[in-house]
Amino acid sequence: MAKPISRHVPLIIGNWKTTPATREEAVKFVKGLDRKITTGKYKLPRRAYYLAAPDIFIPHLKAATKNGYIGSQNVSGTSLGQTTGQTIPSQLLSGGADFTLIGHSEVRATGETADARAHKVALSLQAKLMTVLCLGEHERDKGGKYLQELEDDVKHALSLVKRDLFEYLVIAYEPVWAIGAKTPATPQECFEVVIALRRALATLGGIDYAKKVHILYGGSVLPENAKSFLEEGGVDGLLIGRASQDVQDFYTIISSCH
Ligand code: PEP
Repeated sequence: MAKPISRHVPLIIGNWKTTPATREEAVKFVKGLDRKITTGKYKLPRRAYYLAAPDIFIPHLKAATKNGYIGSQNVSGTSLGQTTGQTIPSQLLSGGADFTLIGHSEVRATGETADARAHKVALSLQAKLMTVLCLGEHERDKGGKYLQELEDDVKHALSLVKRDLFEYLVIAYEPVWAIGAKTPATPQECFEVVIALRRALATLGGIDYAKKVHILYGGSVLPENAKSFLEEGGVDGLLIGRASQDVQDFYTIISSCH
């Protein structure tokens, strides 16, 4: 069973999406990354990164890495039984996953509803699988209504969750307009959202429980801008798409953030 994560370490999570093409490439990547982590000039924690990989690679990557945590990019909201083609949280845990993403905007774009996402989050947390709930606005309005919408969204996504499971929860703020884009949010824009999300968490679970939840930023994070989100954006880590698919870029982000 997964242990609750420590708040002292920045959480640097790569989202590999549907890359790489083969198991051999995936294993070569983590071995190369581990080598940089253990022999590079920066002293990094033994477990310095998280990778959300295609499910089929998880056991192979777990066997190959000593320096990373390996997870999934989604879970099924079905339960044990007669449903074809789905993987439920307890199976992911048993297969070696250390964590999962839920509600990534690319999954939401395929039709995942807010209710379905809330259900998946509840199942995943009940299984005590570290759960990275992704959310973010499609666009911003000048009056700042999106902030209230994000607060409402996080409350809805966690509406089926008991607050004592918050220690397994991570929230990734990913403005949809910044994912796969040229320009990220600014650290200041990110900071305003972090305050709104913490307020929503405190309303749900009280301040002590709200403090336990890591909040990450994701959306066009690059080696050049990664650290600024931790220093000025008020986040506890990052969720990284494209730049996590290149060993050197991902290593530079990991080492600059630690
Ligand atoms: C993502 O897919 O979660 C993401 C943040 O992508 P990118 O870093 O490529 O914008």
